[in-house]
Amino acid sequence: MVEEFNINKALKAISARVTDTQREEQNKLNIAGRTRLKQNAIQNQIARAAAQELAVRDSIRMLESEPDSEIKTLRLRNLIERLAELYSQQGLYEDAAATTLDDARREVYQRSADAIAKPDNEVCNCPPEIVTDRAKQRHIRVDSTQKVETLVRNGKPVSLRVCRTCGDVNAY
Ligand SMILES: [Zn+2]
Repeated sequence: MVEEFNINKALKAISARVTDTQREEQNKLNIAGRTRLKQNAIQNQIARAAAQELAVRDSIRMLESEPDSEIKTLRLRNLIERLAELYSQQGLYEDAAATTLDDARREVYQRSADAIAKPDNEVCNCPPEIVTDRAKQRHIRVDSTQKVETLVRNGKPVSLRVCRTCGDVNAY
């Protein structure tokens, strides 16, 4: 009787362990799948932007040979901004900053370039914020840095993180 009980207990434990392992494996597969999807999306984005970059460069070259006019200037400006954005989509943030004619956008591109260039372990030491969750009546620690957007580094997606306290940026 006691033995039977122990066997049942052992069998239950074994089946629970198998399930846990399987769940863990499935989890790993899911995460790997999501990472692959994200990576594919970035690679598609880079390929698309590279192709469009060529077309925009051609348009700029053709436009340059036309006689000067207000419309020509306007169209050139638009194409140059488009080119800067296409550089940015390929992770070429320095090129994007050097190309744009818009100060605000240059700042954004330069921030991305700086964040990518900075060593990953160079992070500020700002303490986490303590936020009160009223519904659950407890305090939560919230990291002082926050993901702002996804950047491209060497063809791979990285998170641009900005510190809410000191404004420090990094991408990893
Ligand atoms: Zn900070």
